[in-house]
This record gives sequence, structure tokens and C-alpha cells, in this order.
Amino acid sequence: MLVDSHCHLDRLELGAHDGSLDRALAAARERGVGHFLCIGVSADNADAVCELAARHEDVDCSVGIHPLDLEADAAPSLDWLLEQLARPHVVAIGETGLDYHYEPQAAERQQTSFRLHLEAARRTAKPVIVHTREARQDTLALLREADLPQAGVLHCFTEDWAMARAALDLGFYISLSGIVTFRNAEALREVAKKIPADRLLVETDSPYLAPVPHRGKPNLPEYVREVAEFLAELRGEPFEALAERTTDNFYRLFPLARRR
Ligand SMILES: [Zn+2]
Ligand SMILES: [Zn+2]
Repeated sequence: MLVDSHCHLDRLELGAHDGSLDRALAAARERGVGHFLCIGVSADNADAVCELAARHEDVDCSVGIHPLDLEADAAPSLDWLLEQLARPHVVAIGETGLDYHYEPQAAERQQTSFRLHLEAARRTAKPVIVHTREARQDTLALLREADLPQAGVLHCFTEDWAMARAALDLGFYISLSGIVTFRNAEALREVAKKIPADRLLVETDSPYLAPVPHRGKPNLPEYVREVAEFLAELRGEPFEALAERTTDNFYRLFPLARRR
């Protein structure tokens, strides 16, 4: 069994499944995907992800404000985060983090929000899902400063080995998406070979970043299989072993996820 550890089920483009999320989930299950973690990105979609988790036994969710979804007047409050984290089936906090690629001018606002999420993670003991892009030093500095007792994950990882090593040393997991299959991702593939088997997760980040051979099309949770197959081959591991390890890792990192 595989787990899609990071997908945006409320944002999928479902043309390939006649517009039906149920059909998209069924297609994924048929390809061995047995669990989905649906990720919150804003105050606006918190209800949507919670409703999806309530409707499907194999869907759990997270809530948080994506660094690129922060509006000047819409920084989350700690109270709001704690309230959301107390809802049923919310097994993690995020995605949160720092993205200086698209919004370098918003660094300070992003850091304030990231710190709030880390504080909420501390108070609830829920794992944090971190989005980081072109912000290596600051991301690591804030994670060190938070010094959380529980593990978290750097999702859709695209950074170098030094960053991966530092995150692993902090007890974090590393999640890889379809980007690792892209032709120009040679450096990331070298990193992917070195991630310890007991700290690796797989994800689609659908509807974004479809893996080869679906690149350029809307991504779907069923394509986590392509990501996992590619990684198994790259790392020289049997597919079944990689599927089992990444699934075990998922349930160890997210102990509140409903195991069937
Ligand atoms: Zn992200
Ligand atoms: Zn995401």
C-alpha cells in the first residue's frame, strides 16, 4: 500500500475522472493508494479539507496558512490555529513555512506566521508540514529555535543534501514529489538516493507537479505510484519494500492518521 502524504483534494482538476473526486479516489485506491493526507492552505479551505476527511475514512487532513496565502491583514492568530487543530481528523499543522522564491518581500510576514504555526505545533504536539523554497537558512533557523519535541516533514523537497542532512538531524522526515522524475532534477535525484529509508515519504502535491510521464497535465493522487516506482528504481529497492517503508513512516510521523 502507498500513501499520498500531501495532496490538495479540494483543488484537483478532475477532467480525467468526469469531474468526480470519488472516482479519482477510487482510481487511486485501485492503484494501491490506501491513504491521503489533504492539506490546508488557508482559512478559506479549512472547512473544505475537514469535510473531505469526515466523508472519507482514508482521508485525513491538516490545517494551516501557506506562506504564499498570507495577506497583509489575514495573518492567522494562535487562537484560530488551536481551534482548527482541535477539529476531528486534523492530524497535522500546515502547510506553513517560507517561500522567498515568489514573495521575497514578504519574508518577515512569512516568518511571523511560521513561528505561530510552530507554537501551535508545540502546544498540540501535532507534526508540522513545512513548505520551504529559497529560504534554507531561515527555515532551519526557525525550526531550531522552535526545537519541537515531535517530528515534522519538509514536503515537496527540492533543496540540497546539506539542507536534507540538517533537517534529518532535527528529526524531520523528507517527502519527495514528482519533481524527482523531471529531466532537469539530477541534483535532487542524488539527494533522493541518500535519504534514509526510515525518513522518506512520497507525495503528489496534486494538482501541481505531475510526475513523468504525466508532466504538464493536472496531477492526481493516483500518480503517487509513479513517484514511488521511480524512487524504488532510483534507490535500487524493490517497489513493494519502498511502498511499505514509506507507508510505515507516514503512520509513525502522523500517529493520529486513521490506520485501517
Ligand atoms: Zn508546498
Ligand atoms: Zn501543497
